[in-house]
Amino acid sequence: MRLLLILALTASRLSAQETSLFGKKPSATTAPEPAAPATTIGASAPADGPDDAADTSVVITPFKPFAQPEAKETRTFSLAKMNRPLAFESTRELQRLFSAFMLQHVTDAGSAGFARAPGPITTIEYVVQQDLGDGRLLVKANWNASADGRLPAATEAFAVMMPEKAPAVGEKGTAVVANVGMVAVRFTPTFAPLAGRRLTMRREAFIECAPLTDGSAGLQKFVDLVRSGSEFSVFTAEKFPCKTCGGLGFTREAQKGKLEDKRIPCTVCEQGKVTVRIETKFTP
Ligand SMILES: [Zn+2]
Repeated sequence: MRLLLILALTASRLSAQETSLFGKKPSATTAPEPAAPATTIGASAPADGPDDAADTSVVITPFKPFAQPEAKETRTFSLAKMNRPLAFESTRELQRLFSAFMLQHVTDAGSAGFARAPGPITTIEYVVQQDLGDGRLLVKANWNASADGRLPAATEAFAVMMPEKAPAVGEKGTAVVANVGMVAVRFTPTFAPLAGRRLTMRREAFIECAPLTDGSAGLQKFVDLVRSGSEFSVFTAEKFPCKTCGGLGFTREAQKGKLEDKRIPCTVCEQGKVTVRIETKFTP
C-alpha cells in the first residue's frame, strides 16, 4: 500500500484519476515505467548542490518512507461477544477503538469504504510554490501535529503535495492529508531566491485524503461493514500491569540488619505499567 503511494509520487505520468490511490487494486495503474525513476536515483548527486541549469526535469524519489510501527500482539474484537459478561468487547471499548481507527484510516470510494492511511493524518495549509507536474506540487506549508503524535507540526516548511484539485501557483489551499514520509525532489526552482538553481530537496510528502466521519453514523457504517465481512484492524498502545514487579514499579530486596527492604526500581516498566502495541482485528 505505502509502496504504491510512493510509486505514485515518483511515477511521471499519472492521470488525475489514477492519483486517487486509496483503492485496494491500484496495481494496474501504478505498475508502468518503474525504470525511469530508478535510473535517476543512482544519479541523484549531493543534496542542495547547484547543477546543470538547463535541466528542468523533475525527479521525485522516496527518501524515508513513513514506517508503521509493528504490533507486538494481535487480538480479535468479536462483535458477537459485545457486552457479554467478562468479554472485553464492550460498547465503550468499541467507541475507543473506533476513535483510533479514524486516525488510521481514510474514506475510500473504490473499496469497502475505508482504507488504511499510508501515514499520519493531519491538516495542512499551503501556498503553491511550483507545479512539479502530474498533480504534484511544491508548497510552502503549515501543518498540525497528527493526533497520534507520530508527525510533528511544522510552519513555513517546503513540502511535496498531491491535492485532489491543484490550485495555481501562488494560490492558497487547505486540505486533510496523509503523510507518506520523506521524498527527495530533484528539480529546478522557478521561484526566488532559488530560481534557476538545479537542486535536490528532501521534504515531507503528503497526499490529500478524505477523513472518516465522526459520530454514530460513522461507527454504524463501520459495524455494518465488519458484519458483512470487511476485514479491518486498528493499532493501539495498551497499558498493562507489569508482571515483573507485580504492578508496583519496583522490586524489594531484603537488607541484612535492617527492617525495611531495599526498593529497586523496575527496569521493564514505567510506574508499574508496560505499554504494548496491539493490533486489534474486528470480526462479525
Ligand atoms: Zn515493572
